[in-house]
Amino acid sequence: MDLATSLSAVTAALALVKELKQIDAQFDKAELKLKIAGLTEALSDAKLGLVEIAQEMAEKDAEIRRLSELLAYKASNLVEQGAFRYFANEAGEASGVPICPVCEKKGLFLKLAQDRSKGAGAVTYVCPSCKANYGYSGIIAKP
Ligand SMILES: [Zn+2]
Repeated sequence: MDLATSLSAVTAALALVKELKQIDAQFDKAELKLKIAGLTEALSDAKLGLVEIAQEMAEKDAEIRRLSELLAYKASNLVEQGAFRYFANEAGEASGVPICPVCEKKGLFLKLAQDRSKGAGAVTYVCPSCKANYGYSGIIAKP
């Protein structure tokens, strides 16, 4: 249930309260009971909707917190150079091998590793996690 549905349930409940005020309780007991049943249902719907909305808001807050921490981490630890991002050295400059751009999108900051399995003349840089191959050279950070 979304916010608009919850609000319309509350609006329906308020309309029923208005109708209840106009009923002559002495003479229209059946109608009174019917309106109270309708009021109870409308309020239950509204409550259910609000509980769901509160849960969604808590999940969104948690996601905002996670993304804020991720942005803060990137801002203080990573430096862009060319097509890659690198861990910053003490001077704040790009250093060493880049991190895997594919895994970075998943929130993982993994430095590429050398794959020496094809011999000394065919060393390539690969991601230790997703195994993406970034080729032979030219990816080490330039001073
Ligand atoms: Zn990767």
